[in-house]
Amino acid sequence: MNTALAQSRNETCNVDVAIVGGGLVGASLACSLAPLIERFGLTVAVIEAAPMLDAVQAPWQPSFDARSSAIAQGSAERFRDMGLWEAMLEAAAPISQIHVSERGRLGVTRLLANELDQSALGYVIPNAWMGRVLHHRLSGLPLAWHCPATVVEVEPEAEGHRLTLSDGSTFQAGLTVLADGGRSGFKERLGIGSDETPYDQVALIANVEVSHPHGGTAYERFTREGPIALLPLQGQQMALIWTHEAGREAPRLALGDGAFLAELQQAFGDRAGRFRRVGRRHAYPLTLVTARESIRPGLAVLGNAAHSLHPVAGQGFNLALRGVTDLVAALGMALESDEAVGGMLALRDFEARRIVDRHNVVRFSDGLVRLFGIDNVLLSHVRAMGLVGLNLMGPLRRGLARRAMGLER
Ligand SMILES: Cc1cc2nc3c(=O)[nH]c(=O)nc-3n(C[C@H](O)[C@H](O)[C@H](O)COP(=O)(O)OP(=O)(O)OC[C@H]3O[C@@H](n4cnc5c(N)ncnc54)[C@H](O)[C@@H]3O)c2cc1C
Repeated sequence: MNTALAQSRNETCNVDVAIVGGGLVGASLACSLAPLIERFGLTVAVIEAAPMLDAVQAPWQPSFDARSSAIAQGSAERFRDMGLWEAMLEAAAPISQIHVSERGRLGVTRLLANELDQSALGYVIPNAWMGRVLHHRLSGLPLAWHCPATVVEVEPEAEGHRLTLSDGSTFQAGLTVLADGGRSGFKERLGIGSDETPYDQVALIANVEVSHPHGGTAYERFTREGPIALLPLQGQQMALIWTHEAGREAPRLALGDGAFLAELQQAFGDRAGRFRRVGRRHAYPLTLVTARESIRPGLAVLGNAAHSLHPVAGQGFNLALRGVTDLVAALGMALESDEAVGGMLALRDFEARRIVDRHNVVRFSDGLVRLFGIDNVLLSHVRAMGLVGLNLMGPLRRGLARRAMGLER
């Protein structure tokens, strides 16, 4: 725990902002608040349940068992603003083109970085590395970092919320940000409903090694069983996200490595070369979840707690980072005009900045799943024609690429 706001057990600490969850989104928010901490003396606490890996005992290695994220150019800009981009780049692989195809159909479309005068369409970074860079930065900021510590209660009060931690200590926070990934049940306990659409799909994740240099190509291949995404990592490694109908992933999780690689080769084809090695496999059940409210007096909901998307378009964290930026901008305006950071003026400003982007990205990701997820011959021809057509139509393709890069809201 950082000493700046250290408190002893059973003592209440007053903070301007309490962030529940120091995952990708909560930690990004805390790092983005640094200028407000410095300029206005904003007091911030971050509470994270999972213990951090000890950097000395567990030095970073590009392992074979972690999830990676496609980071859009817009998000790279945000990390640059936080002063973290150089460190992020150390483990990043640039995406020079996105290759979209459908198994058994002719249509292919390519989105190329150089067509957009960009050096890359985006970057792929292992989540563990992003976590490491964010937490390293956090440890140098004058904020209270409680880890491992779990928030067990969030109760509304006249001004803000009272947070109770598992060790009995409490916080009185002017603004509480739920960045807990939606797993703690606080939304529900506070009466914030969500719209949930189960996709009846499970994403099987693993890192694979390919026989040829991938040249920075990210593949999105739609198959009868569901989309397969392969994202470039450093060297000849690629991050696999293989969507299955729920239940069908179980036998594949249980296969030996050789048999698994053979099935992947069969499903994906040879476009990326031969699959040579596979790391640990993990499964993520997929449901579209959108919270019906993202602000209340003294409360904001961010990241997966606000929206959990299908990973097919790699947009969840990118969307959340834009939410982080907009929240920080709204809080900055509030502090400039001497308003409360948990007040509805600031929070409505934040919500107004978010609403269109969130709606568009949820619709875009969900639309992609539905368009390519239906095993329908007619629709399949339309999709193939669409992919061929898209490859011929420069402006539309460039529009799609700009959205994928997070440059379009
Ligand atoms: C298979 C897959 C692939 C994806 N690929 C991409 C991609 O390529 N690009 C992209 O932009 N997005 C991608 N996403 C989405 C992205 O992973 C999420 O948007 C992101 O992880 C959300 O982060 P978060 O911090 O909101 O939630 P989480 O990562 O779930 O973090 C929540 C944190 O809160 C902590 N916590 C929970 N409860 C408590 C509590 N009571 N007290 C204290 N701490 C608590 C947890 O320990 C955790 O650290 C993908 C998602 C999946 C499933």
